[in-house]
Amino acid sequence: MPKSELVLRVAIPSPLYSSFDYLPPDNCDPTQLKKGMRLRLPFGRSQTVGILLEVSDTPQIERHKLKPAIEVLDNEPLLTNELMSLLLWCSDYYHHPIGETLATALPTALRQGEAATTKHRSLWCITDSGREVDTDKLGKRAKRQADLLLRLSASHAGLTAAHFKELPRTWIDAMAVLVKNGWADMEQIPALEFGHPKPETGPELNAEQANAVERIHNCLGMFSAFLLDGVTGSGKTEIYLRSIDAVLKNNQQALVLVPEITLTPQLVGRFKRRFNVPMAVMHSGLNNRERLNAWLLARNGEASIIIGTRSAVFTPMSRPGILIVDEEHDSSFKQQSGLRYSARDLAIVRARKLGIPIVLGSATPSLESLLNVEQLRYQRLSLPKRAGSAKPPKISLLDVRSQNMEEQLSAPLTQLIQHHLGNSNQVLLFLNRRGFSPSIICHECGWVGHCRRCDTHMTLHMQKRHLRCHHCGSQRPIPQQCPDCGSVDLRPLGSGTERIETVLTEQFPDIPISRIDRDSTRKKGSLDAILNDINSGEPRILIGTQMLAKGHHFPDVTLVGILDGDQGLFGVDFRAGERMAQLIIQVTGRAGRGDKPGQVIIQTHHPDNPMLQLLCQQGYHAFAKAAQSERQLTALPPYSHMALLRAEANHSLPAEHFLDQAHTLAEQLGTHGIELYGPMPAVMERRAGKYRYQLLLQANKRADLHRLLGPWTMQLNKLPEARKVRWSLDVDPVDLI
Ligand code: ADP
Ligand code: ZN
Ligand code: ZN
Repeated sequence: MPKSELVLRVAIPSPLYSSFDYLPPDNCDPTQLKKGMRLRLPFGRSQTVGILLEVSDTPQIERHKLKPAIEVLDNEPLLTNELMSLLLWCSDYYHHPIGETLATALPTALRQGEAATTKHRSLWCITDSGREVDTDKLGKRAKRQADLLLRLSASHAGLTAAHFKELPRTWIDAMAVLVKNGWADMEQIPALEFGHPKPETGPELNAEQANAVERIHNCLGMFSAFLLDGVTGSGKTEIYLRSIDAVLKNNQQALVLVPEITLTPQLVGRFKRRFNVPMAVMHSGLNNRERLNAWLLARNGEASIIIGTRSAVFTPMSRPGILIVDEEHDSSFKQQSGLRYSARDLAIVRARKLGIPIVLGSATPSLESLLNVEQLRYQRLSLPKRAGSAKPPKISLLDVRSQNMEEQLSAPLTQLIQHHLGNSNQVLLFLNRRGFSPSIICHECGWVGHCRRCDTHMTLHMQKRHLRCHHCGSQRPIPQQCPDCGSVDLRPLGSGTERIETVLTEQFPDIPISRIDRDSTRKKGSLDAILNDINSGEPRILIGTQMLAKGHHFPDVTLVGILDGDQGLFGVDFRAGERMAQLIIQVTGRAGRGDKPGQVIIQTHHPDNPMLQLLCQQGYHAFAKAAQSERQLTALPPYSHMALLRAEANHSLPAEHFLDQAHTLAEQLGTHGIELYGPMPAVMERRAGKYRYQLLLQANKRADLHRLLGPWTMQLNKLPEARKVRWSLDVDPVDLI
């Protein structure tokens, strides 16, 4: 085949399922190109960046209609064979267009065509002669130099520009003088986090931990999936650290995935204290350049440990050794838009392809993972006891029926709070609802403040003095009068964390209160400030949403109050109960982690509810067993497999009609082994002005489902109503609403 006949088959981020053919750019030898390289391409009237899938001798359309690519952007494939294979699998499994799938895996900067080159940053260290300088004698004019010298001499690892952020920009001139005088050295280092030069060793492992570590060690270098099933505080993180240590000693890299809200400076700090290696931390606060840097440094192997949230599952690695998914039950591992992948599930697939072990850790494993253990796909590593001296807290239900309540705070709970504060301890109250109150109501006529764009009410925020919709973000001032009857007697309806805080301030005027929710922690650094206050150890009340539930360690909390234990009992989603149980146990895990024993109170109107009782009396695993049997009886996941086709439009009819047509199409293609439910309106039918409908597909065998999904998704765009709706397919949905 002459080179001149070859065409480039590329994936382009577009909702179309097909790949696209281009001619090679001028003066380019197509045989030198490798799959996974980026190309700049003409696309419609503009340009786009695509990824080479293959060099082919059989164009999909006539040659003379093909346009030449503009340029090749990479010398080396950006996506390794391993990642390409993972992403092809991913596109296939989630029935998502290959171009968009590949684009999801790339940092934005690369998607936009930026060069795949890392930027280094400067690191300054003090020299021996710098140490001998008498800073007092430097003189008034050199105050800045003296300051810098003192800072440098106090640091083992050296300092980067990030450490001098708060100084006037002229610090750089003073630093240049230090370097010129030979008092400081400057070197260029990769833009990574660095561990401590003299890392800590960590505690001696207990028998269960030692066993877990040994079993993971024995599987290094081969695929093996572990469910590290350990109560909060049992030392799961310690297991991760030991396993990573072994991997680093083999000169390999570790990838650690965590939920967004647990990726805190505390967690990163713990890793840094233990390992003297460069780490790439990939969180949502990075800008495009920083994310690109981290990605490239993982790819070229300079970063030995990669810690990141969901999308980090796509991080390339040159010498991968282990994958770790912490809090594997957390639903934030599932992407809820575009390519709706589960980072946990993909991590399993990736580990298998790589032939390396993967550890999924949780105190409250998902029912999916527990089933995988039963079916011997995962090995279970159990840590049933808390590490060290901490004792598990005692959990009890508090019947609040006909109790005196002050905004979700029953009299007995208030007394308990008093008691624990009196013993100089801290109290944590959990309510998974932020804002002052879920809505506002007119006391004369019953009018309720609804969102104009969604089928839901607007949350009252007193501090910001507005009503805000938590679904579409729209907001308006609190009305002075009822828009229906003109009454001025408008009252809050129900309570959120902000209101509880107000009530507590009145009841406990001398006790400091920390509120932790998305509103109080919006400003950068505010969460750290709050956590610092809490760590000071003085008596204090913590009130918060699920942000409080995860990752943090509050050694002085001895009482946890779950204000609304009924919240999960009546959820519309079949996973609502599982989620609530996980949240309760996670929050519970915050109590009594230090030397002081803890107590947990769950307020409920349903003290006889068997699931709640099971959870309190026998713990999460008894609850999970019961929930499993229920799912098995009703043939719900994980005992069956689901896909959800969603459609939204400016009116309800097109959305419903499109799904009707999709339903008919499915029947034409064959629905053997599949049940179809719908079309039906979503629980919140209207959201942000769009009408939302859905069609649910359920099958006992995954293969039956996927046999239909392949051809079906290819043809959905050809349906007559397809142009009037936005549709999306969600394979293994975690949220049915
Ligand atoms: P988890 O990740 O399961 O919540 P951690 O690994 O954070 O548990 O451990 C909880 C606490 O117990 C930490 O302060 C940790 O340093 C400590 N710890 C862990 N393992 C041991 C051990 N074998 N002996 C003493 N303390 C331990
Ligand atoms: Zn009214
Ligand atoms: Zn809204």
